[in-house]
Amino acid sequence: MATARKMWALPGAELTAPASLLMHGGGPELLQLPCPSFLIEHPKGLVLFDTGCNAKIIDDAAGYWGEVAQALPIKWSKADTLDKQIEGVGYKTSDVKYVILSHAHLDHSGGLTYFPNAKFLVGANELRYAYWPDPDRRWAFILNDFLPTRNYDWLELAGDFDLFGDGSIQFLLTPGHTPGECSVLVNLPNRKFLLTGDTAHLRAAVNTGATMGIDFDPTQSIRSLQRIKMIRDLQGATMWITHDPEDWKEHPHRIE
Ligand SMILES: [Zn+2]
Repeated sequence: MATARKMWALPGAELTAPASLLMHGGGPELLQLPCPSFLIEHPKGLVLFDTGCNAKIIDDAAGYWGEVAQALPIKWSKADTLDKQIEGVGYKTSDVKYVILSHAHLDHSGGLTYFPNAKFLVGANELRYAYWPDPDRRWAFILNDFLPTRNYDWLELAGDFDLFGDGSIQFLLTPGHTPGECSVLVNLPNRKFLLTGDTAHLRAAVNTGATMGIDFDPTQSIRSLQRIKMIRDLQGATMWITHDPEDWKEHPHRIE
């Protein structure tokens, strides 16, 4: 099996939220949640997994996000936007050939417009749902993250997809949190990482199998969680849960 060359975990906004928002059974304690993107270098092109929040929230969170901005206090500086993070590791946004979107929530889809010429990969039914979510989840989708991307080159995937056909970067459809939620398995020279997106939100939820309040389909969420745990265990992959503060602290941010 081939490998990608290296991967960077790029920091984005840090959101503050109670554990209870992230998992059933979570308490009132406030967590500092990272919202990273992952840049993966492969001989056939540069791949990005997730794009974080929209940088407009740095100056005007309420204006861009609406009411939810009050419930999710944001720590983020203009020096740390996604374009600058990509430049910081020696690339330009125009070098990114493929963008894989874990799902269409506001803390993952904010930076799509940095990459107007990339090819976008997303799980089936995600984009339609992003345009017209159920009313009680509408706050988690920002229409303006997507409106400018209608003519972008989107590939909607109804199943798993081996991006380069060499096993190095595998798109795994893990629906439940949203209709088209996906995870990505990255085979690097010395390690294998399973980037979960929001298939899981916290290590504690992976251990207990807890779903979260705004999951689109909790039954599917549980199946997807079981699936990624099995991949972790049988394929020797390290799970990287996007928003887990311990994962962010423990894993190296430049990996070969
Ligand atoms: Zn998220």
